[in-house]
Amino acid sequence: GLDVAWAERWVRRTAERIAEAKGELTELDRQIGDGDHGENLHRGFQAVVAKLDESGGAERTEVGDVLMVVATTLMSKVGGASGPLYGTAFLRAAKRSARREVDGSGVVVLLEAALEGVTSRGKAEVGEKTMVDALAPAVEAATAASDAGQDPAGVLRAAAEAAEAGAEATVPLVATKGRASYLGERSAGHMDPGSRSSAIILRAAADTAQ
Ligand code: ADP
Ligand code: MG
Ligand code: MG
Repeated sequence: GLDVAWAERWVRRTAERIAEAKGELTELDRQIGDGDHGENLHRGFQAVVAKLDESGGAERTEVGDVLMVVATTLMSKVGGASGPLYGTAFLRAAKRSARREVDGSGVVVLLEAALEGVTSRGKAEVGEKTMVDALAPAVEAATAASDAGQDPAGVLRAAAEAAEAGAEATVPLVATKGRASYLGERSAGHMDPGSRSSAIILRAAADTAQ
């Protein structure tokens, strides 16, 4: 199963990947938003890493302990729509992962909790060109992989792949939630930045679970 060491690897890898993708995310958000998504998430995950460094691993024994650091830090350091949305996602996942090791079905529980956090906060449904369009198919694919008996790494790979496809599939959509909805029909033809960052976060989870 996946343990606290994986959670810490995942979060640190996410910070690296977000740093690499900062320009890409900013450019996507420049097309249909206000051009700050890369900077928002980069600032947030750098703060998360600083928090992990300063508090020391001995205080954290469970996956949920790491996810809670992510949640509280993103909520306090990331402005805009994505901070509270990702903050709530990690908070819900943290609260549902109070055990030392996470198996395949445990991964599904975490992803479901994260999606519920985003939808309870942002009220977006699938097809509204938001991060939900990456996270909802990720939950679906993870559930299928878990039901098929995949190990946690396999479940996360299925989730990451579905999230990447979901992000690509936001390109033709017209946004009806968030800042991009102000553009109406002109939001079509661009990938939603939040769906892309969700796919990056899940790919980092899969890559660190090997
Ligand atoms: P802001 O739009 O406030 O500048 P960001 O640029 O950091 O915040 O994040 C924008 C992303 O947030 C969008 O690409 C979208 O995926 C996501 N988002 C915005 N509103 C919602 C919502 N109501 N539900 C789910 N996701 C949303
Ligand atoms: Mg923005
Ligand atoms: Mg903004």
